[in-house]
Parts: sequence; C-alpha cells; structure tokens
Amino acid sequence: MAVSVSLSYDLHTHSTASDGTLKPTDLVDRAHRDGVQVLALTDHDNTAGLAEAESAARQYGMELIPGVELSVTWEGKLLHVLGLRIDPSHRPLCEGTERLRELRRKRAIKMGEQLAMHNVKGAFEGAQSLTSGGMVTRTHFARFLVNNGYAARVQDVFKAYLKPGKPGFVNVEWAKLDDAVGWIRGAGGYAVLAHPLRYRLTASWMRRALTAFKEAGGIGIEVVCGSSTPEDIRISAELARRHGLLGSMGSDFHSPDNNWVQLGRLSELPAGVEPVWSAWRTA
Ligand code: AMP
Ligand code: MN
Ligand code: MN
Ligand code: MN
Repeated sequence: MAVSVSLSYDLHTHSTASDGTLKPTDLVDRAHRDGVQVLALTDHDNTAGLAEAESAARQYGMELIPGVELSVTWEGKLLHVLGLRIDPSHRPLCEGTERLRELRRKRAIKMGEQLAMHNVKGAFEGAQSLTSGGMVTRTHFARFLVNNGYAARVQDVFKAYLKPGKPGFVNVEWAKLDDAVGWIRGAGGYAVLAHPLRYRLTASWMRRALTAFKEAGGIGIEVVCGSSTPEDIRISAELARRHGLLGSMGSDFHSPDNNWVQLGRLSELPAGVEPVWSAWRTA
C-alpha cells in the first residue's frame, strides 16, 4: 500500500529580529523539537535573523526558508505580505526594509510621546529595552505596559492603547503593495498575503484586495494560521480557490508564552487548495 509522506511545514514565525521572544537559534531548536521539518523565519520588515537561523537549521538537517513579513499600506489599510524563499541580499528588498525600519524608529518615538501625555511614562525607552537589536514594534510597547501593570495581557494593551483611535496609536504609511511584492519577487521569492481574515475586510474589500494583490504579483494566501478556527480555514480556502491563489500555512509564532499558538501545530490544508510549496518544488 502506498503511504503518502507529507512534511510538517510552518511558514510564518518571528524571532528577536522583530517581535518574537526567541533568538533565531532557539526558535529553530524549538521548531525541531516540535517536529517542524520546513520552517520559514518571517520577521517584520527585517531579515537580520536569517543567517543565524540557517546555520542552526543546517545542524538539524531541517529546511529553513528565508522569509520576511512586510508592512504594507493599501487603500489606507494595513496588510501584511509574507515573502518566502527570498534572497535577503537583494538590494531593493534591503533598501525597502531599511526604510520601513526607519519609519518604525520615528513611530516609536512618537508613540512614546503620545503615551506620556496619557500618563504612561518612559514607554519608548522601556519598549526599546525589551528588544534585541533595537527594532521596536507595538508588541514591545504592549509587553512594557503589561510588565508595568497598565494591563493584564498584551491583547488588553492593544485594545486600550495601541489600536487606531487609542492614545498610543500613530498612523504610518508603510510600503506600497506593488513595491512590497516587487521587492519579494525581485529577490526571487514568493509573495503570500498573511492572515487574510485579520484585516476585518468586507466581502467586497476582500475581493478588491485579493485582486490587487494578484495583479501586483502575489501568488498565495495563508489558509491555515496558528489561530484559525475550522470556519476560518474553510473561508480562507474558498478565497484561495476563487482567486486562483496557492495556500500557505504558518503559525505566526511569537513566543512560547502564548499557549494557544505553538510551532507547527497546524491543521492540514483543505482538499482543493494547491500548497504554496508546489510553486518551488516544481520550479
Ligand atoms: P507593529 O507591526 O509594530 O504595528 O506591530 C504589530 C504586531 O502586534 C503584530 O505583528 C502582532 O504580533 C501584534 N498584535 C497586533 N494586534 C494585536 C492584538 N490585538 N493582540 C496581541 N498582539 C497584537
Ligand atoms: Mn508580530
Ligand atoms: Mn502579521
Ligand atoms: Mn507575523
């Protein structure tokens, strides 16, 4: 009897090069321990963790896919675009992500100022001290506020301080969709729209977003995320099929502290969804 052997994929994870709490080596160790065979490291707007992750993965004979998660502003909305199998030395990608990190530095200072006006003192310095390498994300602000008793959980900080309309929110024009997908493709990579249901788009905005994403050169969407319900997976799979997009799967792992999102703990891609890795396995 033929036995089909499928690899365990996790194509969306974070390290200390963005807002994850594990160093790239520790992330790879943990992924290996948890049975992941193909791991993509996809830090926000940063590829600085990839070299370390690759050398750790080599020791285990694991496949490490170099990736990135780019912050995009499209029609005034924030989208996250994953680049998988990128060459991190591609100049336009390096310059693009450097600009995004510069926007982040300026944003973090403003966030600190706005929070100070709402009686949260020292938030910029506090958030920065929780980073390694100094890339400050909203997650670092959230952890600082939790550590200092402003809220019980990170999600509560987002709700009360960091979402649009809240005191710590600073609006930023991130990369343009066409530019972000262009950098990924120029770097030899595959562009995948991350967690499509997290943007809370109406059906018609979703249609427009996926059409624009495909026109820009995007080839896939994340159908299975670490936090997906069976209904989320069904809806995302239907979007993939309807728009002729490949399906990806990734936990969006940030930290071992989050018990309900762990490495490689993912449902299978539903039937009828072509996996994103078929794009490079046959290439
Ligand atoms: P930034 O890219 O700096 O604006 O930060 C966005 C990051 O914050 C995301 O990648 C998530 O890791 C985290 N995040 C966003 N919204 C929430 C939320 N409601 N609860 C917890 N974490 C969140
Ligand atoms: Mn994040
Ligand atoms: Mn994201
Ligand atoms: Mn992510």
